[in-house]
Amino acid sequence: MSLTFPVTPNPTPVADADRAAILANPGFGKYFTDHMVTATWTAGEGWHDGRVAAYGPITLMPSAAVLHYAQEIFEGLKAYRHADGSIWSFRPLANGQRLARSAARLALPVLPDEDFLASLSALVGVDRAWVPDVADGGEKSLYLRPFMYASEAFLGVRPANEVTYSVIASPAGAYFAGGLKPVTLWISEHFARAGSGGTGAAKCGGNYASSLAGQLEGIEHGCDQAVFLDSATQTFIEELGGMNLFFVTRDNRLVTPELTGTILEGVTRSSILDLGKELGLDPQERRIPIDEWKDGVASGEIREIFACGTAAVVTPVGELRWEGGSAPSTAGEAGGEVTNEIRRRLLDIQYGRVEDTHGWLTRLA
Ligand SMILES: *Cc1c(COP(=O)(O)O)cnc(C)c1O
Repeated sequence: MSLTFPVTPNPTPVADADRAAILANPGFGKYFTDHMVTATWTAGEGWHDGRVAAYGPITLMPSAAVLHYAQEIFEGLKAYRHADGSIWSFRPLANGQRLARSAARLALPVLPDEDFLASLSALVGVDRAWVPDVADGGEKSLYLRPFMYASEAFLGVRPANEVTYSVIASPAGAYFAGGLKPVTLWISEHFARAGSGGTGAAKCGGNYASSLAGQLEGIEHGCDQAVFLDSATQTFIEELGGMNLFFVTRDNRLVTPELTGTILEGVTRSSILDLGKELGLDPQERRIPIDEWKDGVASGEIREIFACGTAAVVTPVGELRWEGGSAPSTAGEAGGEVTNEIRRRLLDIQYGRVEDTHGWLTRLA
């Protein structure tokens, strides 16, 4: 039986004027809407007790398994307001299916697609006033964060028999403060985010935890983000801590690391492979040695490099640094022509400014 999400309204919602002030300058991940979705899974009952109630602290026993063994997964997608006031999301089924694959890898229960979609509509339905206006300046959206974790109070090591699913929502402006500026990347040579047979292809908190030391090392070297290599040989480019990578070559190939099981399959990545073809580029998924980046920038073979993901959409990549060396930026002040064209196309589809010929949009409210 499918879940339902009856609403208990927040008795003390944020005042209209305060919400308007937040939406004028939301930043990223700082403010949250008035409500959240919750549902419970137990080994005996399956999924039950879906509900929408006030956003607020959750009660967990200190022995809750997630706090010890990190049995947790999440998703990230956005709700976009179109010019007519309707609210849409971009390929939400792809997120639901990825959540199911992540669940299988982390030995968590699968949430059916229809329940996933219903949970998003339920939250956006009550908190629709939190979806920023298009007139409100460009790229604002409501970021949706579904997540699932082992809430059972038990210290034994086995898949939890009680699991909680939630969705929270946070109004979002531009992901990187300071606008569309190329990011400088650091090659993480001492720390990997994922290994063969591990959880790299699942969207789980543990992958982010293991990426932070590399990220920190990058920041200490004046970089914005770290790029991770395959852990087995330290030879091939994988991805950033939370974004996939693309290279545009002189002869119009659009190249991205192939999915080897240690790379997260981004919805943005897969959409860009489709859009690239329509732009007359030749999309390729293959292993890319890190030396190809260093040499390709020097020879002019690589024209543009960009990173992509739901939160930051498409971000130009500038300089690459490593212990004892660097490769210069190909991105100019605000990224190359192809980078910006792909970014614009994606945003035009998401905000309903062009026809959705791919059937990528789903109405939420
Ligand atoms: C979420 C994520 C991405 C981007 O995926 P999208 O579906 O495009 O948002 C890329 N890499 C990692 C490690 C991620 O967790």
